[in-house]
Amino acid sequence: MRLSATSHVDAAIVGAGIAGLVTATRLIEAGVSCAVLESQDRVGGRLLTHYSSAGRFDLGATWYWPGETRVAALIEELQIPTHAHHLAGDAMYHVPGGAQRMDGNPIDVVSGRFSDGASSLAERLADRLGDPVSLRTTVHEVAYSESELKVTHTHGSLSARHVVLALPPPLAVHSIDFRPPLPDHLHDLATATSVWMGTATKAVVVYREAFWRHDGLAGAAVSHVWPLRELHDMSGVNGDPAALFGFAPLGPGAPTPTEHDIVNQLVEIFGSDAAAPLEVIIKDWRLDGHAVPPGARPLTPMETYAHPRYQEPAGDGRIHWASTETAPDAPGHIEGAIAAAARAVKAITTDRSAIYGATSQPQQGDH
Ligand SMILES: Cc1cc2nc3c(=O)[nH]c(=O)nc-3n(C[C@H](O)[C@H](O)[C@H](O)COP(=O)(O)OP(=O)(O)OC[C@H]3O[C@@H](n4cnc5c(N)ncnc54)[C@H](O)[C@@H]3O)c2cc1C
Repeated sequence: MRLSATSHVDAAIVGAGIAGLVTATRLIEAGVSCAVLESQDRVGGRLLTHYSSAGRFDLGATWYWPGETRVAALIEELQIPTHAHHLAGDAMYHVPGGAQRMDGNPIDVVSGRFSDGASSLAERLADRLGDPVSLRTTVHEVAYSESELKVTHTHGSLSARHVVLALPPPLAVHSIDFRPPLPDHLHDLATATSVWMGTATKAVVVYREAFWRHDGLAGAAVSHVWPLRELHDMSGVNGDPAALFGFAPLGPGAPTPTEHDIVNQLVEIFGSDAAAPLEVIIKDWRLDGHAVPPGARPLTPMETYAHPRYQEPAGDGRIHWASTETAPDAPGHIEGAIAAAARAVKAITTDRSAIYGATSQPQQGDH
């Protein structure tokens, strides 16, 4: 979209993560004009797939789970290829001094994977949306009054009837200047809400082959040794490309683990075959300013997730929360982001008279 100083839309959506993209898709289907303003040069947000010569590896979301009907429906709608997460084999248990084999795999659960990477969901939605998505466009200010709502961004400003905050609440209140300020209770709630997985470091280690499977291992492990606490197989269909991944939950100020730290730990757990990876990819989400405000808090108090105040629009019914943290169902997951988007869409589309204005109600025969 070519944004100009005079641009007007029914809904300005801040963030082209999965929540923002689903919101825009459903609003446009309902005849509501939208602009999606995304600060990065890519869509997807916490759906982040790393592309390398060896394959595609997810550094953000990896799985979806049985019962997540919204994700399943989106996969079906967009024809996204998927495969089952690898479960077969024994898991490992790692403590200081050594690792032992478990009987079976109590660590992994039945789940699905996006064969082209989780970003494929966002990329497919953005391709379909086309023009309304503006990359490299950071929203700095939302000014609202009874008569108008103005969204100021990198390239100018946009007037809108509604604004959808499809970014984590603590980041929204840290990086966007609301004029007038949001009510204290809402500002404090958003500040106190932690970003889902915002203090995690995710490491993906790529190998020539899934050697652990030859030994009857699942590639899963629980570790009480720094840095990775939980490990899983991240290989593609039939083990190709071959990869393991793990999470390191890190407190504020803790150093990002190095490639050396991670490979040493994998050798302790899986043996000397783990010593020669093709590639090690490390993503410390604490350092990603597009997801997490400075000084990210650990994911402990989750009582702010799905808070009733997020279910209601603010600013006279025109400022809507839509990130996964605000979702009434499955907050934190992709499923939650889609649920939060649906809530914002419902609130905006039931305000149709306000969107079209008293003099421009859609007439019979309009499309
Ligand atoms: C390491 C990790 C592992 C995960 N694993 C899973 C998993 O296996 N399964 C699962 O279901 N979920 C998982 N999740 C969670 C999942 O990724 C999120 O639920 C989902 O991607 C959130 O989508 P969202 O659209 O709500 O927010 P985001 O993806 O955070 O999107 C927000 C967007 O807003 C943009 N933005 C920020 N500030 C501004 C601004 N001022 N102006 C304009 N744009 C802005 C950002 O660049 C971003 O694109 C994981 C997350 C992480 C980090």
